[in-house]
Amino acid sequence: MTNKYMYFIANWKMYGGLKSLNSLDKVNKFFKRFKMNKFIKIVYCPPNTLLYSMALKLKKSKIEVGAQNCHENKDYGAFTGSVNPIMLKNVGAKYVIIGHSENRKIGENNKIINLKIKNALKSGLKVIFCIGETLQDKRKKITKKVLNNQIEFGLKKVNNKKNIIIAYEPVWSIGTGLILKSKDLSETVNFIKKKTKNLKILYGGSVNPKNIHEFTSVSNIDGFLIGGASQDPNKFIDIIKKTFN
Ligand code: PEP
Repeated sequence: MTNKYMYFIANWKMYGGLKSLNSLDKVNKFFKRFKMNKFIKIVYCPPNTLLYSMALKLKKSKIEVGAQNCHENKDYGAFTGSVNPIMLKNVGAKYVIIGHSENRKIGENNKIINLKIKNALKSGLKVIFCIGETLQDKRKKITKKVLNNQIEFGLKKVNNKKNIIIAYEPVWSIGTGLILKSKDLSETVNFIKKKTKNLKILYGGSVNPKNIHEFTSVSNIDGFLIGGASQDPNKFIDIIKKTFN
């Protein structure tokens, strides 16, 4: 994996306070000096409470900032506790994660996800669209059917897909330490690439410095969505370094 553009998206989930922003100094310094940096995009997705401060801190850096979700409505309105994609863009977000399984689990359905994707794109954000099968789906051997449905419904009537990146995240692998066999991952990524007419595909699910080599042998992956390990700058840097050697 030496000559292609790789994404490293850090999903901080519901972790981090103002002090956590200090950890970016280390990553920023590393990124500036890393010899492969022109082949890399790093995007940090902190909780909304840190978006503005993080975007300010990274103003002169090539590291970009994204949000972890948004409201499906792009206009302002009486939606207590919600944030629309325009508001996210306004405080410096360039990307937004949509369809994460942790949000699907609490009721986000394909129809809402589709609306979110459309309105995030209209607001000028790039979308990291998460798809993935549950353990039950895997056991029933319906992974492809599930992914197919998530893609069909999620991207329904989305005409311009150039600002969409797919994150394939098997639900059973998120935060569990369980990972896919490289052969299975490669086959699934090929399936998604074919279905989405070659969109960029990231893998997410328990990626860490110890198992990253299992994934780097899968040549059709365009990068990683990293949860737990992204909160530790040393682990995050290690994952990037090991992806390139
Ligand atoms: C995620 O939250 O998208 C994720 C992949 O988490 P983890 O790396 O902790 O499994």
